[in-house]
This record gives sequence, structure tokens and C-alpha cells, in this order.
Amino acid sequence: MHWFIFNSNNEILLKDSGGVPFSEIPPVKCPEGNHVFEFSDGCSCFTFDGTAPENYRFEGLRASYLKLPKEIHYKAGKASELINFDLTYRFCPTCGGRLEFSSPISKKCQNCQKEIWPRINPAVIVLIYRGKDEILLSKGYNFRGTFYGLTAGFLETGESLEECIHREIMEETNLKVKNIRYFASQPWPYPSQEMIGFFAEYDSGEIKIQEEELSDCRWFKRGALPEIPSKISMARMLIDYWDTHRNEF
Ligand SMILES: [Zn+2]
Repeated sequence: MHWFIFNSNNEILLKDSGGVPFSEIPPVKCPEGNHVFEFSDGCSCFTFDGTAPENYRFEGLRASYLKLPKEIHYKAGKASELINFDLTYRFCPTCGGRLEFSSPISKKCQNCQKEIWPRINPAVIVLIYRGKDEILLSKGYNFRGTFYGLTAGFLETGESLEECIHREIMEETNLKVKNIRYFASQPWPYPSQEMIGFFAEYDSGEIKIQEEELSDCRWFKRGALPEIPSKISMARMLIDYWDTHRNEF
């Protein structure tokens, strides 16, 4: 079976030769009192805060994306979310009773029986295009790097995804969009997010950036894009799709 073993810095144990441990018995022993999660497909995970054994090392979960097959990386993300859930949801938010696992992915209050699932924060991310050959890219203060990215934001209470898209774009850029089209979604467990990707066509307005969030925002032409986000991200998937499907825009 695959073993997803995390330390408390949310780093995952990988083999020096590549991949997560795959064996009958894990390469380190689950510490006494730690919960071992078993998935229905034969994967298991637990936390371990000792040093990595010989021929293994701990590596950041997000960085491990480039070193693991996509489906294994997604499972590692799920494992990390469950461990995070176990550590942070210990008492019932209603009555303060103790929470215990009642299914592989949920806990139940031992006092009032309320069931609790891990929280997921949905966020929209939108590629805005104008005509056949231009897209809007922006640089945010909270981006991890020097690249230009897409407009994104968290869904608020009582809001549809479409309303969220219009609000975020108006707040960040002062633009109106139309023809919103769903593209794909992706778990983003760093932590607890779900990215939901869309295309939207420019409708009207002049760019006026939200200065607390963005340092730059402008239209870029096909073939002359600046540095863009890495392959792991939904932003990059949207940009790559736009770049290779010109007839659909
Ligand atoms: Zn309770």
C-alpha cells in the first residue's frame, strides 16, 4: 500500500529514489496515539515528527507535485487535509463535546451527535479574454513569485459562483465581463481550498486596479505573455488551454 506520512510542517515523506513509500509496513512506525487513516483504495496516512530514515526525506507538499504522478499527489492532498482536520477539529463547535471519527472523512460529537466534515473553501479563478488574442493578467502582492496570474477570489456566503466572479473582477479591476464558461476544478489542499476555473469575455470598463491587492494588471497579447504561473496551478491550465484553442475564443 501507499503510505502518506506527514510531519507537523505539512511536509511529506518521499523516497530519495522518487515517489511515496509503497510497502506492506511503513518505513517509520506510527507514533503511539496518532491516528492512522485508511482509505478504501488501500492508502494510509499518519503524522510522524521524527527524522526521515535513510534513503527518505521530507519535502513540502506543494513542491512534491512535480515529483509524483498526479493521482498520487491528489491522494497526498486528501491525506494532508484529513490529518489537518483531525488536528484542528477536536471539539464540537455547538456544545464543546469531544469529536471522534465516525467515518473515514467525518467526525461526530460524542455529546450532541452533531456530525462535522472537513471545511472546504471554494475559490473562483477566471481567465478574462478580449477579442481573439488578448487576455488580462495581473500581479498580486500575495503571489509567491514574480509571475502574472489571473483574477481569483473566495466565494462569500449567499453568493453564486457567477456573482462571485462578477464581484471579484469588479473589485480587483473595475471591469465587467460576460459569457462566463466553466472550465474545470481542482482541489488545492494548501490548505482546504477548491479552485474552480472559468473563462469570461471582456464586456466593458477601463482597468482600475485594487491597489491593496494588485501591483499591476493589463492586457497581454497572444505570443507575448509575461512569466506565468507554474504547471501545477489552475491559472496555468486556463492560460495553456486558451493558448492552444484559439478557435474557441
Ligand atoms: Zn456537540
